[in-house]
Amino acid sequence: SLDTKQMAAIVEGMAKKIEAEKEYLTELDNEIGDGDHGINLARGFEAVEKKLPSLAGGDIGALLKGVGMQLVSTVGGASGPLYGTAFMKAGMACKGLTEIDGPAFVKAMEAAVDGIKMRGKATEGEKTMLDALCPALKVLQDDVTAGKSLKEALQDAAQAAEKGVEYTKTIIATKGRASYLGERSLGHQDPGATSSLYLLQVLAEMA
Ligand code: ADP
Ligand code: MG
Ligand code: MG
Repeated sequence: SLDTKQMAAIVEGMAKKIEAEKEYLTELDNEIGDGDHGINLARGFEAVEKKLPSLAGGDIGALLKGVGMQLVSTVGGASGPLYGTAFMKAGMACKGLTEIDGPAFVKAMEAAVDGIKMRGKATEGEKTMLDALCPALKVLQDDVTAGKSLKEALQDAAQAAEKGVEYTKTIIATKGRASYLGERSLGHQDPGATSSLYLLQVLAEMA
């Protein structure tokens, strides 16, 4: 299980990972978008990092909600409200909890993915972050139900997300900026699916 302190450390790890991969994410977005995904997210997570000390003292719900609010107000672009909603919904699912186990984590991740789907009116197969997150969530649900530890489940989930990112190369974008390209989006890896993979990898490593 994870307590608030560990979760805050994970969020900090996410911020570091996004900062480290900023250029690459922006390169991917240059190919099928407007070349700002890495910049957008790094700006948001930098703001989150500054806010973390004041968020790490409460419960996990308040921490994640605070992260989400910070992301919404600083990321901009399509991904800001989407990631922001995801963290806020996860926070609501963890309301009042100072520790979360596998089943609680699954509930939080379900709320996050549902939030992204609702906010972006998108589903799997549209070449978005959901193509990394949905397969990851499915594996996470199955593993936790089967009694695997949260860390093992997250490791399997990250692997599923990796396959999901590969899959985005084979499909046409029907949501977001990349959808303007139609068939020309084929062969390119979705930046948002890639950043989602990074966040899941940090979770798998640090949980
Ligand atoms: P913008 O396209 O506004 O510049 P970003 O570059 O930060 O925003 O983010 C682009 C990413 O957002 C895409 O790669 C995709 O994964 C994700 N995205 C865009 N629209 C949607 C949507 N409706 N639902 C889910 N994800 C989306
Ligand atoms: Mg962009
Ligand atoms: Mg943009």
